[in-house]
Amino acid sequence: MSRIVYVNGDYLPEEEAKISIFDRGFLMADGVYEVTSVLDGKLLDFGGHAARLERSLTELDMAAPATTEELLEIHRALVEKNGIVDGLVYLQITRGAPGDRDFAFPDPATTPSTIVLFTQNKPGLADSPQARAGIKVISVPDIRWHRRDIKTIQLLYPSMAKMMAKKAGADDAWMVEDGYVTEGSSNNAYIVKGGKIITRQLSNDILHGITRAAVLRFAREAQMEVEERNFTIDEAKEADEALVTSASSFVMPVVEIDGVALGDGTPGRVARRLREIYLDESRKTAI
Ligand code: PLP
Repeated sequence: MSRIVYVNGDYLPEEEAKISIFDRGFLMADGVYEVTSVLDGKLLDFGGHAARLERSLTELDMAAPATTEELLEIHRALVEKNGIVDGLVYLQITRGAPGDRDFAFPDPATTPSTIVLFTQNKPGLADSPQARAGIKVISVPDIRWHRRDIKTIQLLYPSMAKMMAKKAGADDAWMVEDGYVTEGSSNNAYIVKGGKIITRQLSNDILHGITRAAVLRFAREAQMEVEERNFTIDEAKEADEALVTSASSFVMPVVEIDGVALGDGTPGRVARRLREIYLDESRKTAI
């Protein structure tokens, strides 16, 4: 059975789904996206993802093609139609297809946004072998644009950073700007020192991770100490532990940075505890 996807109001087998070659997502990377995880057939933190999507659209002056309630309905329908127990729902909205290529934005009255959603089936998503072993990261310069708070589909540099990591025998890259770690290629970055959880403060320099917000809230509720501030790669190498968070990896321990093992080179106690709390608490509020 082929995957059922959603395109501009229709549920279709993926082979039948079509987008114009003039779509501004295709020509200009003029679009935004969200990824929401699914555990036990339910959506984690849907409200957070919907709110960030609305903000991304507003920041780019792009029309929302559906209300939050409609988006929830589409997410749920796709999960059901594709029999997803554990996996992801990807959503993308672009500025539509004006019928030609032009740098100027088209008039939204005549060029509606394009909206596409599809599921990714990931059985056992919460029980990944990578989370048990931890991941290795390398540092790379952060040469992205300066509105990283908007979740745009311009993902070429993060893809390149991921490839640099792979070539170096690592799993992912942490990006560094002006001497400080901004974030991972597709996740937020943290270190742990003396029990304190340290992660960069929110600004236009990083994506405001939905998982980050939840993890920091749960950590504070569990009386763990959290500090939101810049840190360097050198400080990270000296840390007791490190970790990353994202909707698709939840809380992922980092065990090596630029070839330097952290602690005893296995996932740290705080990272493992945060992963446990995040999964437990998020499952409780999944819809
Ligand atoms: N930072 C970047 C650059 C990302 O691409 C992502 C997720 O795709 C995140 C952080 C984590 O955000 P979230 O927890 O909302 O998935």
